[in-house]
Amino acid sequence: MNKKIAVFPGSFDPITKGHESIILRATSIFDEIYVSIGTNAEKASFFPIEKRLEWIRLVFAGQPKVKVDKYHGLTVDYCKKLGAKFILRGLRTSADFEFERSIGQINKKLYPDIDTVFLLTTPEYTALNSSIVRDIIRHGGDPGPFIPEAVKF
Ligand code: ADP
Repeated sequence: MNKKIAVFPGSFDPITKGHESIILRATSIFDEIYVSIGTNAEKASFFPIEKRLEWIRLVFAGQPKVKVDKYHGLTVDYCKKLGAKFILRGLRTSADFEFERSIGQINKKLYPDIDTVFLLTTPEYTALNSSIVRDIIRHGGDPGPFIPEAVKF
């Protein structure tokens, strides 16, 4: 049987409890989930890539299905290389939906074998995003309630 492999692409700058929740829920759907940081995004990151990868590794240390990686170039080319037929994304709001719809449809055009699978955010994480967490850290607040237990600043 072919393994069901999904890629969860993002910047994870930093990983939040929202990301963690989506990834953990996806472990009951897929055989392997690559949580992968794309390194060619135009936006400059707040935390260095090695730090972001290290935090994700810590969070999923006890989850053998979860792999942590980085890639350069198009997400679909990276998926082809891995043999991944699924892209995993979280949906918080209708704004997320519009954004994700266009990326998902373009990715499907670029690589017809790929399907994007969306998991709805649980209500308590709908307002959460990495940029809010960065703002809290930047201004000396405590990001503890919003980031996974394993991540320590
Ligand atoms: P990107 O740089 O692609 O926006 P992010 O690291 O912000 O990457 O997010 C990666 C994925 O995680 C996206 O699918 C996004 O919708 C999802 N995500 C982000 N925050 C949350 C959250 N609070 N709850 C559920 N999913 C989330």
